[in-house]
Amino acid sequence: GFLGIHSTGFKDFLLKSELLKAIVDCGFEHPSEVQHECIPQAILGMDIICQAKSGMGKTAVFLLSILQQLEPQPSTVSAIVLCHTRELAFQICHEFERFGTYMKHIKVLPFFGGVQTSQNKEQLKTDCPHVVVGTPGRVKQLAKDGDLKLGKVRHFVLDECDKMLSKMDMRADVQEIFKMTPHDKQVMMFSATLSKEVRPVCKKFMTDPMEIYVDDEAKLTLHGLVQHYILLNEDEKNRKLNDLLDALDFNQVVIFVKSVPRARELNRLLNECNFPSVCIHRGMQQEERLGVYKNFKAGHKRILVATDLVGRGIDIERVNIVINYDMPQTSEQYGNGADTYLHRVGRAGRFGTKGLAISFVASEADSDVLNQVQERFDVDIKQLPDAIDSSTY
Ligand code: ADP
Ligand code: MG
Repeated sequence: GFLGIHSTGFKDFLLKSELLKAIVDCGFEHPSEVQHECIPQAILGMDIICQAKSGMGKTAVFLLSILQQLEPQPSTVSAIVLCHTRELAFQICHEFERFGTYMKHIKVLPFFGGVQTSQNKEQLKTDCPHVVVGTPGRVKQLAKDGDLKLGKVRHFVLDECDKMLSKMDMRADVQEIFKMTPHDKQVMMFSATLSKEVRPVCKKFMTDPMEIYVDDEAKLTLHGLVQHYILLNEDEKNRKLNDLLDALDFNQVVIFVKSVPRARELNRLLNECNFPSVCIHRGMQQEERLGVYKNFKAGHKRILVATDLVGRGIDIERVNIVINYDMPQTSEQYGNGADTYLHRVGRAGRFGTKGLAISFVASEADSDVLNQVQERFDVDIKQLPDAIDSSTY
């Protein structure tokens, strides 16, 4: 369909009326292509491994199918969703609450590090959730300590599954959690990037899954997104960024940098130059991190300086510009630079909306990654022209 949106309605999925009402409240009119492909199978309990481009509503696939199938039992965790960052766990949990407004008997809780473990344990004892959304480290700890009982889990989801399974420490935690769940359950995994190497790793967790891949990587390109680069030297970046923030018409912008110190420093500098930015990275206290995320998502701040912490999964509707102040790198630790690029720029132009991505290219390594992006995703990224029509993004 046009922009990957399907013309049939959500009601064709024969979802519970409580869910259909919430879908209307959320303003979803038509299912996206990935929702159309996956939801009918997912609500039947099939295992699913699903690749679909950024911002096309993969969250709703697992969320609606879990809420549709869940039969809440007292003090029993029936579904577990794991993801790679705390902010994403919080976001997914919030989405469950939005779509579960008319299913008040279903309780969903987020569990992640940086919060007192005792607080999680208390919640599990007094008000045990039916759905747990969490990061692997904390969930593993709660399960090993015996507070989180996984013996009745019926649905197991990995969001950003390639990330979760290619980082070795995270993979080990996921495996350990998985082993504590019953054999007979539904497993679903999602990402915009699923290399041929990671697919068999994912499939080891599943039984005869429905497999949805985007083998022609050109189809991962977001067509509403205008993409440009700027060639410059490292010491010209700040000046250029300043000019861009003055010249561009943006609702909200995310500026990606490669390290925690650079995020801190750039944020300080922008504030000095009277650009009221905020920053988010792993070097911050959890409470503050989540506060920044919530504030930015609510639109109270318009400029976010970030590390790859929010490079994937995070969904902020008003973001229409992404700037790669530092180009993504390819390395053992960070993974594939072109993949990282695709996820980062996918923070703008979500669900078929318009957006603009600008990348600073300051080294040979930077231009290598840019070239890979152009080849793999079949996009022609041009140098940023002197003037750019703001109606295009
Ligand atoms: P993905 O995980 O595929 O990157 P998300 O699940 O985060 O994408 O969804 C991106 C955005 O699109 C979210 O703001 C979500 O609320 C919205 N969205 C998802 N499905 C629909 C739909 N069918 N109609 C309208 N908006 C949708
Ligand atoms: Mg997602």
